Amino acid sequence: MLIPFNKPYFVGTETRYIEEAVRSGKLSGDGMFTRRCEEWVQAKLEVPRALLTTSGTDALELAALLLDIEPGDEVLLPSFTFSSTATAFALRGARLVFVDSSASSPAFDATQLASLVTARTRAIAPVHYGGVACDMATVLEVAKRYHLTVVEDAAQALGGSFNGQPLGTLGALGAFSFHETKNVTAGGEGGMLVISDPTLIKRAEILREKGTNRAAFFRGEVAKYNWVDVGSSFLPAEINAAFLWAQLEQLDVIQQRRQAIWTRYFEELQPLLALGISLPDIPSYTTQNGHLFYVVCRNSNEQTALIAYLKSESITAIFHYQPLHSSPYYASRHDGRELTWATHYANCLVRLPLYTELEVSQQQRIIRAVLRFYQRL
Ligand SMILES: *Cc1c(COP(=O)(O)O)cnc(C)c1O
Repeated sequence: MLIPFNKPYFVGTETRYIEEAVRSGKLSGDGMFTRRCEEWVQAKLEVPRALLTTSGTDALELAALLLDIEPGDEVLLPSFTFSSTATAFALRGARLVFVDSSASSPAFDATQLASLVTARTRAIAPVHYGGVACDMATVLEVAKRYHLTVVEDAAQALGGSFNGQPLGTLGALGAFSFHETKNVTAGGEGGMLVISDPTLIKRAEILREKGTNRAAFFRGEVAKYNWVDVGSSFLPAEINAAFLWAQLEQLDVIQQRRQAIWTRYFEELQPLLALGISLPDIPSYTTQNGHLFYVVCRNSNEQTALIAYLKSESITAIFHYQPLHSSPYYASRHDGRELTWATHYANCLVRLPLYTELEVSQQQRIIRAVLRFYQRL
């Protein structure tokens, strides 16, 4: 039987909560389930404000709007990431300064940041690839030294931490995704902006609500609500929040299962290290949150061959990002620096199936197939 790469997990209470939302007669956003999710996250991550959004992409766009990123401003971000990390700032006219990955990690190499700062640099957008923290000590030190704002792309990082502090709460802003491929989902699409800098909260609520002070109005803080700023429609419907609430209630169970799968891969694929194949590197400052697991092949041909071999064994394994600095949209705008590690991970990284319901017997089949491919079985 074919083992898919991903399979969305349903905890079982989603439809009951959706029915509750429907029966309540309040379907637009900012209702009971939206507030429940936001308050739960605020308590769990110990942040002053969490705002649900329609997607992780929208959380990043809301962040870029909130920071008043303007044409010509520069933003430092990894090349090896999803397009949304970049488009959020590109939409505001920012110049994107891509940072390479490193030998030990597909995440960006924070030691390069300081040398890329100019008088126009405004923000750093680190991505916690696979839910494994970037070197946030260096990121925060550079940000402080040059007065830059840190927007964490924590899309994959719910439940992850850096020296014990939840990812997404180390910078001024953190963006999470509840897309169906992430550890928990808001019914297919959804996201959240977590705000650690309290001075940004009020305006964030306004920008999420089409530039109006509607949120303050419903709290009874203003007599009428008005158009007071720019903005857009970033507020998800209650049905999505109801779905997400069911999943958040089971977050610990979901994370435990995914982390156990991750650990089994990591332990049983150790024999590959001797061949020069690398496995995820988890520095002592971070945890793994069971989001994804990968092996890094020695070259591009091996990547293609491994994926094809696993496919012949009815196992769906896939590569990941194509580097943004050399993408069709940005190649002509990039400053010309070669980012060899980002290209290396594009050509060599292979992600193995990892989803909450993956059974041990299925996982053993995957592990044996990988070891067989490398004649280590
Ligand atoms: C999933 C993801 C996003 C986008 O989230 P959506 O909810 O799909 O819009 C952004 N950045 C990274 C690193 C992601 O993995």
